[in-house]
Amino acid sequence: MFKLYNTLTNKVEEFQPLNPPEVRMYVCGPTVYDFAHIGNFRTFLFADLLRRYLKYRGCHVHHVMNITDVDDKIIRRAVEEKKTLRDYTDIYLRYFLEDFDALGAERPEELLRATDHIDEMVELIERLRASVHTYESEGSTYFRISTFPHYGKLSHLKVEGNMAGASGRVDSDEYTKEDVRDFVLWKAAKEGEPFWETRLGAGRPGWHIECSAMSMKSLGESFDLHLGGIDLVFPHHENEIAQSEGATGQPFVRYWVHAEFLMVNGEKMSKSRGNYHTFRSLVAEGFQPRAIRYLLLSAPHHKQLNFTLDGLRGAESTVVRLNDFRQRLTELVPTGGENGITSGIATIIERARGSFEVALDDDLNTAEALAAIHDFARETNGAMARNEIGAADKAALLHLVERFDAVFNIFGETVTELLDSEIQSLIDERQAARKARNFARSDEIRDLLLSRGILLEDTKEGVRWRRR
Ligand code: AMP
Ligand code: ZN
Repeated sequence: MFKLYNTLTNKVEEFQPLNPPEVRMYVCGPTVYDFAHIGNFRTFLFADLLRRYLKYRGCHVHHVMNITDVDDKIIRRAVEEKKTLRDYTDIYLRYFLEDFDALGAERPEELLRATDHIDEMVELIERLRASVHTYESEGSTYFRISTFPHYGKLSHLKVEGNMAGASGRVDSDEYTKEDVRDFVLWKAAKEGEPFWETRLGAGRPGWHIECSAMSMKSLGESFDLHLGGIDLVFPHHENEIAQSEGATGQPFVRYWVHAEFLMVNGEKMSKSRGNYHTFRSLVAEGFQPRAIRYLLLSAPHHKQLNFTLDGLRGAESTVVRLNDFRQRLTELVPTGGENGITSGIATIIERARGSFEVALDDDLNTAEALAAIHDFARETNGAMARNEIGAADKAALLHLVERFDAVFNIFGETVTELLDSEIQSLIDERQAARKARNFARSDEIRDLLLSRGILLEDTKEGVRWRRR
């Protein structure tokens, strides 16, 4: 029985999707104003692990992640760099996805950009406006929290008193609110800032409304799972519940699951504290992407994880060991065993599979699941050393490695992503080869790029490429 801690009920509960085997999940995605740090990626890799484990258990996962591409920080940076919002956020969205892929995360079924869904947000705000939940003031629209008696049910906070300032994301420039707890749905346009002309007037959406609008658009008014970092519980997720349930009268999300922080010396890793590492900076220092992935997944999501370079070095040698193990098993020449699995190997496999599943069923205890993988590797190494592995044993052992890896994605050798400039120089070389009628070389380069997930398209304007 797969159990998850649900922030909403404050309990570890059996996970039962609304329409099994389908699971509909939404993950609050990045704000694309700069490079993401590995604290952000702890949360996204946790979502990846949950997604993969649901698939391992036979669920059909529909996973949606938003991209916040309009907010104060983005606007400020885009103005500074004299770029449009779109041009500015395109750059950091691209970097984000490069890192995301290199960290071995599976792409969600849908990646939705906030600025592509202004209409849906306007519609949702209009629905709320038709009820008692909103008011307008100086061109902005606010949510009136006193009209939603369940406010606080997720964060289990007493809503009386001044909650502003509890999160860095509470806007401090909203002087026109009736109540300090109210939050903005639609912000009136300001001089020098991008805005949309809509039925709500000229302006831009508040942050919270984007997730309510996009999640319900793709997943329906009630869906199974909503994820994010622990700092999103209040006010972001609390506000999402108020907006969504205020508009629909339906329960919005069944299971709210939050990842604890990646810490550095007892403090949350964050841009504002300056104590962060980006994925790229660590790769530039020579660390392998899958070691970073391993480290970020090594502690259960409900525990804080303290980041140290020593810890990362440890993860580096662990993933090298795991890779060697798989390599040795793949290359092993079996001794007999055409007639089926031997009982010793069957025992190793069953024990490992059992411990792995028990651990992950228990609110995704990744530390225990990894321990099961290490025990399995140690016992299999012993059997290899004693020449006890036949052909059927080998196939069954390798199959289990693949099953484990479908969830963790830590065994394989990491092929680091080609950089854009590397891709471009290969394309140039291919063009030169074609010109010289060296088609063998030109095909070879095309195939090499294909094997690295790069698709080429010959157009009238020249060769275009995209990542698969
Ligand atoms: P942002 O791009 O700031 O919207 O953050 C993206 C995600 O990263 C959110 O779900 C945050 O909760 C999460 N996050 C931010 N800092 C950390 C951290 N130090 N450890 C884990 N998750 C984090
Ligand atoms: Zn969100």
